[in-house]
Amino acid sequence: MLVDSHCHIDFPDFAEGAEPVLANMRTAGVGHALCVSVDLERFPNVQALAEAYPNVFASVGVHPDHQDCEEPTVERLVELARHPKVVAIGETGLDYYRLPREAVDWQRERFRTHIRAARKTRKPLIIHTRSAADDTLAIMREEDAGGVGGVMHCFTESWGVARQALDLGFYISFSGIVTFKSAADLREVARQVPLDRLLVETDSPYLAPIPYRGKRNEPAYVRHVADLIADLRGLPVKTIDEATTENFFRLFSTASRS
Ligand SMILES: [Zn+2]
Repeated sequence: MLVDSHCHIDFPDFAEGAEPVLANMRTAGVGHALCVSVDLERFPNVQALAEAYPNVFASVGVHPDHQDCEEPTVERLVELARHPKVVAIGETGLDYYRLPREAVDWQRERFRTHIRAARKTRKPLIIHTRSAADDTLAIMREEDAGGVGGVMHCFTESWGVARQALDLGFYISFSGIVTFKSAADLREVARQVPLDRLLVETDSPYLAPIPYRGKRNEPAYVRHVADLIADLRGLPVKTIDEATTENFFRLFSTASRS
């Protein structure tokens, strides 16, 4: 059985509701999914999915790209993270790709807020970084994110960045991007990440892996990410399934397997 460590099945892209999505997961041998919060306005939907389905977990956080939304405080995040199905804080981090660099002071503040909330709740972080790896790692160090740990989600950076995140105790999660033809360098990183720090995800509805590239993604397709990584590493698929599932429940230690 596999776990999709990062999806957004609360998004309007899943207008058919969760039932067919969960049925497809079952068919593909995907036992659990972590539905990741991107803002506080939509958090009630994430929480409702986690309450409705034992094999769906939730996180609470505000994505670094999101503007014109409720700005989270440490207290607010800590309060929402008290829910027993909330297993992580995020997604948070830095994203200089979409926003002009001079406009991102608030992004850094928001990131620090999430790390402080994670340290308070003892729940791990889900970190998004894009075109901002050095600043992301610097803030992780300054705020002692290693004290609580977490995952670098949808990883697309170099081995050097992976190495620094691993040294801080973080896990590295690969999405469908690793199956894309252009991602040879990333495949090399996916080959090297220690087996006990590896996670897989879809980031659905985005980034559908080959052979679904360009279509709407869904948690069942995490199977294609795991298959590709098994192939890369010359390991049986079962080994990748078991390792990434063990890793998920070790990292998100308040998530129950039942
Ligand atoms: Zn995401």
